Amino acid sequence: MVRRALPYLAAVGAVGVVSTGLGLVAWVLRIPRVETFLLVFVLLVGAIAWRLGRGPALVATGAFALIADYFFLPPRAGLGGASVSDLVRLGTGLLAAAAVIQFVHVSRGRQVLLQKRKDLLQDVSPQIIQSLDADEVLNTVAEATLRVIDYQHFRVYRWDEAAERLVLVKSVARAEPYERVDWHTVTLSLGEGITGIAAQTRRPLLIPDGSLEPRMVYPVGTTPVVESILSVPMVTGDRLFGVLSLARLGARSLSDEDLRLMESIAAQTALALANAEQYAEAEQTIKALATIEALQPTDAGLPDPEVGKRILGGFLDLSQADLATLRVLQADGRYHVAATGGRHWPANDAPMGGPLSAAQVAWVADPRVTVYVADPESDTKLPEWVRRGTQLAGVKASVFLPIRAGQRFVGFVGLHWRRPRWLRPQQLRRLQLVAAQAAIALDTREALGRERGRAEAYAELERARREFMQIASHELRTPLTVIRGYASLLEEGSLGEMPAAARKALRTLMDKSSEMRGQVERMLLLARLEDGAAQPQMSEIDLRTVVADAVNRVRPQVELKQGRVDLTLTSAPLTILGDPERLATAVDNLLQNAVKFSAGPPQIEVTGNRENGSVRVVVRDHGIGIPPSAHARLFEKFYRVSDPELHNVTGTGIGLYLVRQVVEGHGGRVDVESQPGAGSAFEIQLPVPAGGAIPPPA
Ligand code: ADP
Repeated sequence: MVRRALPYLAAVGAVGVVSTGLGLVAWVLRIPRVETFLLVFVLLVGAIAWRLGRGPALVATGAFALIADYFFLPPRAGLGGASVSDLVRLGTGLLAAAAVIQFVHVSRGRQVLLQKRKDLLQDVSPQIIQSLDADEVLNTVAEATLRVIDYQHFRVYRWDEAAERLVLVKSVARAEPYERVDWHTVTLSLGEGITGIAAQTRRPLLIPDGSLEPRMVYPVGTTPVVESILSVPMVTGDRLFGVLSLARLGARSLSDEDLRLMESIAAQTALALANAEQYAEAEQTIKALATIEALQPTDAGLPDPEVGKRILGGFLDLSQADLATLRVLQADGRYHVAATGGRHWPANDAPMGGPLSAAQVAWVADPRVTVYVADPESDTKLPEWVRRGTQLAGVKASVFLPIRAGQRFVGFVGLHWRRPRWLRPQQLRRLQLVAAQAAIALDTREALGRERGRAEAYAELERARREFMQIASHELRTPLTVIRGYASLLEEGSLGEMPAAARKALRTLMDKSSEMRGQVERMLLLARLEDGAAQPQMSEIDLRTVVADAVNRVRPQVELKQGRVDLTLTSAPLTILGDPERLATAVDNLLQNAVKFSAGPPQIEVTGNRENGSVRVVVRDHGIGIPPSAHARLFEKFYRVSDPELHNVTGTGIGLYLVRQVVEGHGGRVDVESQPGAGSAFEIQLPVPAGGAIPPPA
């Protein structure tokens, strides 16, 4: 109550203060009155109307009319009737005050309204700026605008840099004449239509009556209506984002004030779009990277359709395409559909389309890297067969991306949108990045497939080889035993005396047949080891016996070559847990090599002892030695040192491989020390079994 009365009291107070002031001035100057007091009061009332509103201003006028009486009277006349002229003066003064009050009231009202709209705009602008998605920005803008301007049609055109056209991306119709029309059919070049002009000049345009405006461009079949139109370009920095367009039915239904508000909205929208774009770019880069990772061909076992689907999924995530097709080059040299998908084309009911020939895709393969088509209906880049397809599907924008592995064109992706789509160079580049990754994925997959085929063929070959070795060694073993049996009979003289030359030949025969038997044994052992079928026959043995027997076996050969073999064994038993037959073969092999790879008469030293808790056997020769570069591969299957001097030394390269297999099969290890020209030493170390079974070393 008191609060509401306050402006009125203030108004009356102001009149009182000003009157007193004027009276004082008259008294000080000794004049009957201040002649301009009327003017002063009219100004005062105007100010009161502006600050406090119409009511207090009227009350102030009343107060002033009452006390004015005092000022109108001639001095010393006292209260009483005034002259006609005084009354006329008072009347015009009151009229002037009333006019000022009304004027102030109206303009104040407009200002308050505008301020209110501006405040509203300020409320919604954070929403616009904060939206991180371009679509969301435009939705927010459409809503926010409606709160400050009561439009009936709201349109957003975006500037498509690639196509150099303004493309309608949003249309909100709030009145019947606008709802009837499909505005999306309109795209405009710079300078075309009101929108095009606003974009070109980068200045807003207010058209009071569109029906009288010859520059308007309407969709085909639209009858122009009487409407006001506002077109405001969205620009930040140097970049044109597009144009905001508002329409309201009726001539002059939009004002200059609306235009100013729209300018502010458009500026904010441009900023928000720039933000959204940057955010989307960052997000898309992350997405593209994730997609790329997902496309790595780690999972070679994935079936082809699944791979196609994943690759296409990457493109779809990134592009948000309505329809998409992945075609991949197949063995028949044609591009078959590997996957289809998209927001409006679920993979399961998509037409698969026939395979394309290499000739049909030549246009996309070469020399263009990416084909971007803004409007399939009019774009001459498109060959007839593509145009037919895109027209059938109602496609309004397409991107065709080749998938290239090096120089090879392995397929392509077609991405399609049913609305005109705005694609920036960066977006195309990002899609190309995914295409490059897809190429790697597809290519690696194919290479892996080839590799797998090769590995299978190799395994088959290996199996056949083993089988052959096994059969061959078995078949050789029996006749060899017979040959050796007769040879020893001959050597012993059981079959009669032999001439000296024949005896010599017989020794060579025995020697070579020993070598051959060794070879056959090796082959048999290899076959058994690789089969994994025959398990080693482990028992507690004294390795000294195994080594001594092996040395005795090789001695005739060494002596034949005028060489010598020295054996040094510890007096204490070298007890281990092992397969005596296999260990014998291992030691045999080392001894055979020591003989074979000695240039002159072989000098071989064999030692057997215990060292550092394990049993150690060393076979040392003073032969040709082994180059250091060969040490690492020496124990590989079929490995032989390639030395031209060795070409007359027979061998298969399985001896040392067997030694290692046998020794490692016993939990031991084998090492080599060798210098070319100085000789070699092979050392076998075998573990001593835990427990008290074995007596301590002597
Ligand atoms: P093979 O003796 O049948 O060729 P091995 O596996 O026993 O096969 O030996 C592999 C290769 O290692 C031999 O070809 C030879 O070049 C080299 N080699 C093995 N033992 C010796 C040695 N004591 N002195 C020199 N070279 C050796």
